Amino acid sequence: MRKILFLYSLILYVFTAFAFSQEDPFIQARERMVERDIINRGITDERVIEALRRVPRHFFVPKDLEKLAYEDTPLPIGYGQTISQPYVVALMTESLQTKPGDTILEVGTGSGYQAAILSEMGCKVYTVEIIKALADKARERLVALGYKDIFVLWGDGYFGWREYAPFDGIIVTCAVDHIPPPLLEQLKEGGRMVIPVGPPWSLQSLLVVEKTKEGIVTHDLGAVRFVPLTREKRVQ
Ligand code: SAH
Repeated sequence: MRKILFLYSLILYVFTAFAFSQEDPFIQARERMVERDIINRGITDERVIEALRRVPRHFFVPKDLEKLAYEDTPLPIGYGQTISQPYVVALMTESLQTKPGDTILEVGTGSGYQAAILSEMGCKVYTVEIIKALADKARERLVALGYKDIFVLWGDGYFGWREYAPFDGIIVTCAVDHIPPPLLEQLKEGGRMVIPVGPPWSLQSLLVVEKTKEGIVTHDLGAVRFVPLTREKRVQ
């Protein structure tokens, strides 16, 4: 009897282990990425690290690029746009210094990956995307993955999302040559904005902009390369 019970438990164990490894074949690749490209490169915020451990980046890239999803590199997502490299996502998220329950505005939804990271950290995310096809795809993907507190708008993020302002934090994931005044307006006092500022199709400075009682304080986190913020709403 004992032998049968043992055999039964063994079969159950092997079956469960198999089922789990089938569920997410990228667990190990993701863990490797978090160790090699996030922790080893100096990201220390545990909430950010945990979020990167949880979000399945391979769902946010085209199927034929799935195998590259856990390399520390930006990848094309169609329509001439890219999903940012994981280290830059982690750096920007850490610099935003969010708390659970914060309301965050993102400009440049792209694949929806950055929004998912913020949602995993307990933030409510309002994200604006100027290319309709990408906005629709990201919304669909985020719903399928079960994210309930991310809201995607097809529009020009230069103007923010007035209806839900002010925001505790704003993250801009496309390059601009100046800080859009509507975004500064929609940032709460004491809030932070992370934004790549500089010429398009070149290197920009990743700025952290704090809105204090005394005025605006900025820190430069270094050079980055983002696709430009454009001003024309596109269906395709
Ligand atoms: N955060 C994204 C990556 C963004 S790539 C992710 O996690 O995948 C930059 C995105 O900004 C592109 O999808 C581009 O279409 C979008 N974008 C460019 N100009 C914009 C604007 N004015 N308003 C909103 N989105 C814009």
